[in-house]
Amino acid sequence: MKVKKAPVICGAIGAAAAANAVHAALFRPKKPEITQLPDETVNLDRYRRHLSEAIRIKTVSNRDPEKVDWTAFDAFHAFIDESYPLIREKLEKTVVPPANLVYRWKGRNPALDPIAMLAHQDVVPVTKGTERDWIHPAFEGYDDGEYIWGRGALDMKNHLVGVLEAVEALLEDGFQPERDVYLLFGDNEEVVANDKNGARDIMNYLKDRGVRLDCVLDEGGAMLPVDVKGVIKNKYLAGIGIAEKGYSDIEISVPAKGGHSSAPPKHSAVGELANVIRDLEDHQFKAAFSENMKLMFEAVARNMTFPVRLVACNIKALYPVLLQICKLIPPAACMVRTTTGVTMTQGSPAANVLPQRATVTVNFRAMPGTTTEDLVAHIKKVVHNKEVEVNVLNSKEASRFSPLDSRAFKIIERLCLAIEPNSIVAPYLVMGGTDACNYEPICENIYRYGPFRADAALMMLCHGTNERIPVSCMEDGLRFFKNFIREASAE
Ligand SMILES: [Zn+2]
Repeated sequence: MKVKKAPVICGAIGAAAAANAVHAALFRPKKPEITQLPDETVNLDRYRRHLSEAIRIKTVSNRDPEKVDWTAFDAFHAFIDESYPLIREKLEKTVVPPANLVYRWKGRNPALDPIAMLAHQDVVPVTKGTERDWIHPAFEGYDDGEYIWGRGALDMKNHLVGVLEAVEALLEDGFQPERDVYLLFGDNEEVVANDKNGARDIMNYLKDRGVRLDCVLDEGGAMLPVDVKGVIKNKYLAGIGIAEKGYSDIEISVPAKGGHSSAPPKHSAVGELANVIRDLEDHQFKAAFSENMKLMFEAVARNMTFPVRLVACNIKALYPVLLQICKLIPPAACMVRTTTGVTMTQGSPAANVLPQRATVTVNFRAMPGTTTEDLVAHIKKVVHNKEVEVNVLNSKEASRFSPLDSRAFKIIERLCLAIEPNSIVAPYLVMGGTDACNYEPICENIYRYGPFRADAALMMLCHGTNERIPVSCMEDGLRFFKNFIREASAE
């Protein structure tokens, strides 16, 4: 019997399309359990006033501790004492030198592991020459009713003051935690990969006293609006940072004879260095999606609108293509691989002198699992010139991954959804550094999330000109902190 091929093929395609449509229809977010939060006293006016005051105190960090104005940190401590009378009365305060703050709020049950709320007191300086570009001066804390302006408004005096407001409010409510609650405020987070690290000193202070933490909450993710016409509608992506990349500055030098530039060799040390740089840039680290990254993609894909979901529901099959696309876009590439950023070069000190040494400084941001040792091995492997000298200037290893099934992660997830039912809560990898990874020796469950609604453009102003926080997101932030402390400090 002869079978006509065309109808069979059409039928097969039709069946496959129908199956895919069913798959797409079922490819929806798991119905989140949305809990009602208790009615809260949330004093937004006081929070705004205190954040403005905190911004006015110039707690600016510097790689050289001699150049830090430590009196500003004293003023910041005095501001906390004056602004939060119940915290002063009920919490035990310790200053870990030079200016790190440890507050301990004793819980009822000393057998339970404490929780810790982290924040850093320091802010980055304003780049010289850009002071006048600010619409409102960087250290005025101006509140125009819509935004509070100034250095630290988003990174991260908003978070630090929010935690203090939450604790003061809980004390006013007469709340007493079951577990100890620590407030741990480092003094030099903005100095990356420093030998002298405030957060590490705090961790050692706690470790010496036998403290093990149940969980740590620090800065990192935020609640980012996502709205792409025809693709995804009116959602918020709450990225919970469960790990952070490493940071290494590595200097690579090419030695040479040097001499008078009137009789140069075919390639001077700088010419040889050019090849070193090309070798590094042409041999990028291998890119891959981590399991957590896939979870985030899937969570977003499930929330896409219907026609797009016909494609999105096949996300697993799309990963190889997605990975190739990510590699081409720098802000996406950094999420899937260890990055190689060639940032500084140096040759001879004068135009008519041949260099006796040419150096390049490369800034690597390592994926979790890649160590500084791996970076050095990579350089030695991909650079053809075997004469080069490799010198690690600064480095901070990438963090571990924190679990997704911990009590603390579930609380964060539940609170995000309770505050914004349109949230897509997903784990993610923090590209920059935070103080949080210093607590790994005494804590398994380390999360990086600032509960503030801010779009990507606003987040880009951290460390830049016109850093500011929308007043509209502060009340939810405060509600999150109050509830997080209440729930995470329970048994
Ligand atoms: Zn920060």
